[in-house]
Amino acid sequence: MTQGTAKDVAANAAPPLDAFRDPALARSLIDTIHALAGGHAINLMEVCGTHTVSIGRYGFRSVMPDGLRLLSGPGCPVCVTANQDIDHAIALARVPGAIIATFGDMMRVPGSTSSLAAEKVAGRDVRMVYSPLDALSLAHDNPGSEVIFMGVGFETTTPTIAAAILEAQAQSLRNFSVFCAHKTTPPALRAIAGDPHTHIDGFILPGHVSTITGIEPYRFLVDEFRIPGVITGFEPVDVLEGIAMLVDMVEKNEPAIRNAYRRGVDTKGNAVARALVNQVFEPCDAIWRGLGPIPQSGLHIRDDFAAFDATRRFEVEVEQTVEPQGCRCGDVLRGRIAPTQCPLFGRKCTPEVPIGPCMVSSEGSCAAYYRYRA
Ligand code: SF4
Repeated sequence: MTQGTAKDVAANAAPPLDAFRDPALARSLIDTIHALAGGHAINLMEVCGTHTVSIGRYGFRSVMPDGLRLLSGPGCPVCVTANQDIDHAIALARVPGAIIATFGDMMRVPGSTSSLAAEKVAGRDVRMVYSPLDALSLAHDNPGSEVIFMGVGFETTTPTIAAAILEAQAQSLRNFSVFCAHKTTPPALRAIAGDPHTHIDGFILPGHVSTITGIEPYRFLVDEFRIPGVITGFEPVDVLEGIAMLVDMVEKNEPAIRNAYRRGVDTKGNAVARALVNQVFEPCDAIWRGLGPIPQSGLHIRDDFAAFDATRRFEVEVEQTVEPQGCRCGDVLRGRIAPTQCPLFGRKCTPEVPIGPCMVSSEGSCAAYYRYRA
């Protein structure tokens, strides 16, 4: 592979994986980005927690040309989960005989007055699981309890939740349900693209999510907003290549949606996984932390599977939501401020003592900024 335009590099890029960590190629891509950028302000946003970590880990912000800003958007599923959803999960944890199962980071996110981790300390049965199938096993092993899985995540995660619900139905498992806080990515992109306070020139599109969605759901960015997007992988060369392709399109004012992660993403996505999700879920309005309510951006369990919907199985009183005082996660998730501009960053709010979810999750912007701040 030789130095050239980003498209040349994209055309030449191929396995093995080591090629995507090649320092010389990374250096040449940085040079390409500098050569392409015209010196004026360009805001690029990634909307995937793994990209957030890659950009922080490899220090890419520090080697970008003047004016080119890499912003982190709503790509961390734990971070975008609204406080009222966390409060709802906490209320479910207080149902007598309930076992709440969820991913580790979710347990530590503060709700209005408690967290799932605090509820566990207080004696509620809250368990960390690695997949919804672990929660199914819990239901098998605890027939006298109600196992409620708190599902968070985007398009990459929802097929496994749908499969777990179908499996529970097939097994006539009566003590398993899902509290569904899932979200879909394109509506959030639309909300940010249309936000007059956040001027985004290009999106680094999520590699994992796109394995399911394919390229089509992003076309509106160009058709309605004339904003380019590049589906990007996660190795250093992947990320730099995505940035170079975006800068090229921004400078030429030739917006398009491109797939630079062809070894991972089929342009058409995964139709089987989408069919699975559509069988079990239907779109619904959802509230995102920082972005507020976004139409048709969440997933609701269909009536056919109502027996597995924790919100319909258990009527609970959810406390009045109170946002963490002084926390600017909402502005961080919209790309309006960098995490370091939050007055609490690194002082009152650290990964050991997090105040907001963006510092709790390992994929959160604040945690990534803190970890790789040097
Ligand atoms: Fe919230 Fe902490 Fe990030 Fe500030 S540094 S926005 S308090 S998570």
